[in-house]
Amino acid sequence: MAGPVIDIRQGIGMTSARTRDRLVQRLRDQGIRNEAVLEQIRNVPRHLFVDEALASRAYEDTALPIGLGQTISQPYVVARMTEALLDGFQGEKVLEVGTGCGYQTAVLAPLVKQIYTVERIPELLRKTRQRLRDLDIYNVQFKPGDGWEGWRKYGPYDGIIVTAAPDEIPQKLLEQLAPGGRMIIPVGPQGVQDLVMITNRNDHYEQVSLGAVSFVPLVKDRS
Ligand code: SAH
Repeated sequence: MAGPVIDIRQGIGMTSARTRDRLVQRLRDQGIRNEAVLEQIRNVPRHLFVDEALASRAYEDTALPIGLGQTISQPYVVARMTEALLDGFQGEKVLEVGTGCGYQTAVLAPLVKQIYTVERIPELLRKTRQRLRDLDIYNVQFKPGDGWEGWRKYGPYDGIIVTAAPDEIPQKLLEQLAPGGRMIIPVGPQGVQDLVMITNRNDHYEQVSLGAVSFVPLVKDRS
């Protein structure tokens, strides 16, 4: 009898407003300034994106494993990437590469008109599609496929956000970035990646470094 009672109380504790407030305050302390982004970090129920066994850690500012060798991104990194994307965002359409569990997708979705997201593991995508529907998020279109190819059909995009790291910037993603559009992408080998912000200035691509990050690789399916 005692077991379940304790579990329920822990359950309330780990998803409580106070736990979420603490996470938001931490991100504020680390320099996240966009209030709409911070509000999304507070609102999106991150514990529903991880296995139940890890739910008690869902509001820690850390990446966590989600099975199939993949991870859910660290809240700070999601906030930083979203803030950087929105800072230069004047359009409507965003391409996301590396859907995973859909946490980044859920944080971004209410802040833009439409997201097109590509994920190479269909099983993961199926669960994520259902999860986002359960959260009443409807402005996302999903595609199982290779992120190196982007999603040409709906391009060009005002924003591109890549949540797995290629060793070099994929040419096809650059081609799908609209004039004035912005791409946020981690680049480099595992463990030593640079988060890069690229803006399409019509006659050239402007590139700014946002600092070191650690993502799983953007897998090359072609051999
Ligand atoms: N955005 C997620 C984290 C994604 S982890 C979050 O918010 O938590 C990176 C994801 O990229 C994984 O799901 C992985 O399967 C996917 N991925 C890796 N290589 C890919 C490729 N070439 N094309 C599409 N998706 C890829």
